[in-house]
Amino acid sequence: MSSAPLPAAFLQALTEGFPVDFLTREPEELSEYGRDWTRVYAPAPSAVALPRTTDEVSRLLALCHQYGVAVVPSGGRTGLAGGAVASKGEVVLSLQRMAQLGPVDLLGNTVRVQAGAVTEAVHRHCAEHGLTWPVDFASKGSSTVGGNIATNAGGVKVIRYGLTRNWVLGLQVVTAEGRVLELNGALEKNNTGLDLRQLFIGSEGTLGVITEATLKLTQVPGKQDVFLFAVPDVAAVLRLFRDARQQTAFIISAYEFFTDRCLARVQRHRKLRSPFESPSGCYVLLEAEAKDAGQVEAWLGSLFERGLVTDGTQAQGAAQASELWALREGISESLSATGLPHKNDISLPVAGLEAFCAELESVFEARYPGWEICLFGHIGDGNLHVNVMKPDALEKAEFLAHTKQADPTMFELVRKHAGSISAEHGIGLLKKDYLGYSRTEEELALLRALKRTLDPRGVLNPGKILDP
Ligand SMILES: Cc1cc2nc3c(=O)[nH]c(=O)nc-3n(C[C@H](O)[C@H](O)[C@H](O)COP(=O)(O)OP(=O)(O)OC[C@H]3O[C@@H](n4cnc5c(N)ncnc54)[C@H](O)[C@@H]3O)c2cc1C
Repeated sequence: MSSAPLPAAFLQALTEGFPVDFLTREPEELSEYGRDWTRVYAPAPSAVALPRTTDEVSRLLALCHQYGVAVVPSGGRTGLAGGAVASKGEVVLSLQRMAQLGPVDLLGNTVRVQAGAVTEAVHRHCAEHGLTWPVDFASKGSSTVGGNIATNAGGVKVIRYGLTRNWVLGLQVVTAEGRVLELNGALEKNNTGLDLRQLFIGSEGTLGVITEATLKLTQVPGKQDVFLFAVPDVAAVLRLFRDARQQTAFIISAYEFFTDRCLARVQRHRKLRSPFESPSGCYVLLEAEAKDAGQVEAWLGSLFERGLVTDGTQAQGAAQASELWALREGISESLSATGLPHKNDISLPVAGLEAFCAELESVFEARYPGWEICLFGHIGDGNLHVNVMKPDALEKAEFLAHTKQADPTMFELVRKHAGSISAEHGIGLLKKDYLGYSRTEEELALLRALKRTLDPRGVLNPGKILDP
């Protein structure tokens, strides 16, 4: 797709067939809607379309297909892979006006919502009925259901509930040619051949535009205990995890970790206090639902005796629990606010984490000697967020060139340990060049064939994930 000006006939059709406020070309809005959280690519869309109905999405896409106009589907633009970036004159298709929440079905435990609904708004809507959609992470106040599904988002509760994919029953999708597909409705079971809904989950807006979804809900969990433990290093984080996993006294809802460097940046940016008097190499945030309080107590006591932790604290009430969570959830934002992080979001088989982490240090020493590395993530799912911070002495361009050169060394290690170069953020533009580290040539060929079938003119989010 080129960045040529939008065809006059296309613009004419939009003027004649859509509400007056359907399209905006205001420079400030173009700049805002053309970027996501990566802040790496300069935004340069031609226009932003703001439909209110599926019919408007369908007619817009039919016109884009007819005139060969590139379209970038856009949710809350909290993505971290550049998937929602429009930097080549594309039309941004924002779902923000399509944010209606249907009634909660208390028998089926489902809710049908429009794709532009904000994740946290869905949580609030369902909580009134003691139910929740267990897709949860720090950006939930801005991310949308459509974006969550298009990225098959992960988050802090995956260890207990799995990925977004598990919590989507039905999808309404508009294809690149403007056809509206209703996929699976509210069915729990539907064995009528291939499940087409799954094609669109995790497709990052390259195969269709999600306009509505029927979400599967679960009960709001019982009382959650939140603990923060101090441990010396990543090996100790994993030793503690092995031990926690074997306990029957509680169900783990989150097992997150971060290093002292992450904590220092959160403290600096958010002006938060560490609950511990002396610093430690790493911290573990454990959230768990107790099945036997006495046994949990005994387990906690044993952690110190067995040398599994060097310090620890348990939140006394909701306010303290939020304070402990803020130390973990404030990391992404604090790294960006206090410096320039180069982000990688990798995953390993949980059982392979120990061996991988033992070798990771030597990659850092070889490629980034003396640089600040901020490691954190959903380690209970095998997911590490590796953030290399720009040294003050380096220019941004030099830094980006250096990290681009260094990334393959880590991806080789990821491949060697049968991991993935993108655990949950997606591929978008940012990781596109490295997809081959996690997907075979045969897989890539099949993905390209699917793209050609569903989007023959290549108008949907062109250049994202992979080229035709
Ligand atoms: C502070 C912070 C913390 C985060 N933590 C996590 C985390 O723990 N786990 C995690 O997985 N992610 C995390 N993210 C990343 C991000 O929030 C998720 O990827 C989220 O699901 C994106 O939703 P969005 O609505 O913002 O999508 P956008 O950024 O707008 O879009 C993401 C992709 O989906 C496509 N898309 C958007 N809407 C649609 C639609 N209706 N139909 C088709 N395609 C569409 C876009 O084209 C793009 O490719 C975090 C981000 C931030 C800023």
